[in-house]
Amino acid sequence: MKKGEGVYNVIVIGAGTAGLVTAAGTAGLGGRVALIERHLMGGDCLNFGCVPSKALISSARLIRQIRESEKWGLDRQEPQFVFEKVFERMRARRAKLAPNDSQNRFESLGVDVFRGEARFVSPREIEIHGSPSPQSSPWQGEADASAPGEGRRLCARNFVIASGSHPAIPEIQGIDSVPYFTNETIFDGLKRKPENMIVLGGGPIGCELAQAFCRLGTQVTLIQRGDQILPKEDRDVAEFIERRLSNEGVRIIKNANVRAATTTDQGKIAVEFLDRPSTPLAERTLFADAFLVAIGRTPNLHGLDLKSAGVEVNESGVRVNDYLQTSRGHIYAVGDVTGPFLFTHMADAQARVVVRNILMPFQFLRQKMDYSVVPWCTYTDPEVAHVALGEKEARQKNVDYDLFVVPLKDVDRAVVESEESGFAKILTAKGSDKILGATIVAPHAGDLLHEFVLAMKTGVGLGTIASTIHAYPTFAELARKAGDKYNRTRLTPFAKKFFTWLYERARR
Ligand SMILES: Cc1cc2nc3c(=O)[nH]c(=O)nc-3n(C[C@H](O)[C@H](O)[C@H](O)COP(=O)(O)OP(=O)(O)OC[C@H]3O[C@@H](n4cnc5c(N)ncnc54)[C@H](O)[C@@H]3O)c2cc1C
Repeated sequence: MKKGEGVYNVIVIGAGTAGLVTAAGTAGLGGRVALIERHLMGGDCLNFGCVPSKALISSARLIRQIRESEKWGLDRQEPQFVFEKVFERMRARRAKLAPNDSQNRFESLGVDVFRGEARFVSPREIEIHGSPSPQSSPWQGEADASAPGEGRRLCARNFVIASGSHPAIPEIQGIDSVPYFTNETIFDGLKRKPENMIVLGGGPIGCELAQAFCRLGTQVTLIQRGDQILPKEDRDVAEFIERRLSNEGVRIIKNANVRAATTTDQGKIAVEFLDRPSTPLAERTLFADAFLVAIGRTPNLHGLDLKSAGVEVNESGVRVNDYLQTSRGHIYAVGDVTGPFLFTHMADAQARVVVRNILMPFQFLRQKMDYSVVPWCTYTDPEVAHVALGEKEARQKNVDYDLFVVPLKDVDRAVVESEESGFAKILTAKGSDKILGATIVAPHAGDLLHEFVLAMKTGVGLGTIASTIHAYPTFAELARKAGDKYNRTRLTPFAKKFFTWLYERARR
């Protein structure tokens, strides 16, 4: 059948991670699938999210290490680098990954790709409109104009809304008149090094980029509305990262509400705070060359005309049930547009469940989305990786737990690497080795976490981790040491007395 004609098994709206995984999975199983993208193939993760941010962070980490070269017995030195070249390298790394998400690749997998904005005209039909955004980019290396979709109508049995999210913009007086950056513009729109920068928002994106820009030589001020950066983490974890950022030179202002933003005659951006009567701010107005807004995300619902499809929304986006079905059973939603976890790996995991659920002819064969073991990582240096329960959440939920803390300085590899600043916190169910959650603050914490993730998923306890041989010297010994700590709690005074008696007996 010709592209666009007849009935598709699945029409996927949005070619970010959620949409790409859905489309590839469906086509791989033999389904007829159409994928519609209004802007760039790869969505946020490839173009303005994970990939460029982590590439930048990688250069920034090396710059920091060179600055601290004495830690490794080298002479003190200043890193030699050109800011613009670091950005060029970031874009080149992104270009290296772009073909994986390209239109050509997906068409070679058997997916019909259309470029334009999808809008529901009924629960079974969508219409494609031209998009105001550019449809190809230098790093995507392909002319995507080959698939004009303007005005075209497509029909399908099932639909998957994978339209993602965009940066939330605060309601600050004058915000529209200042040239602020978001994650969608900073990686390609920033043309030279700003001497100083205000980062609004102390969540993962704000913290990661604040540290990276500071290491690249920009004076960074991070503004957080609440009293804790990284608010999802336990307070001790967030305070550790706050100290680290401050020590590196990031100025952090908490409990601060921005009232207005303006551009001065000198071309600076002025950010004015609301008064804070309890602890007055030292300065009511800050000035900077660049202003980065990173306060959160808003689901992409605009333009979809969900009403025509009868799809309901709530405050976090498209409302779905446990099977990721919307209020219309044949229409699913995955990724940032529905939440509850806005991560690439969550978009991927949800998409896999949806591919299976669409294939299943009956509801009882469909799979529920399981959010019990969801890891995440904030790529500050050191990284903060987390899975399931932290102490804060355990207390909120009245869960009884035992806590095992392993400082990184107890891990020999961390010491020989001069990287012993950090720790791991493991929560187990009170009196047992059942792991309830883990947080690791360490270099490569995101990689180290997965021993706990797999253990939780498969019901392996901390005792089993302790009895697993870990190569020496590795950072992974962190997990074994947590297991050892658990085992020591099992040595009751009675058991110890008994063992002492056994030893005494053996000496007779
Ligand atoms: C700076 C930054 C760093 C991040 N770092 C990480 C990280 O390290 N690890 C991690 O796991 N997550 C990270 N994330 C989050 C991650 O990028 C998102 O969770 C992920 O991209 C969500 O994928 P998605 O497919 O749901 O949405 P998106 O990637 O946003 O894709 C949605 C696509 O749908 C298209 N679209 C929208 N509406 C329509 C329409 N009507 N018609 C056609 N197309 C449409 C959009 O153009 C877009 O391409 C980061 C995010 C940011 C902003």
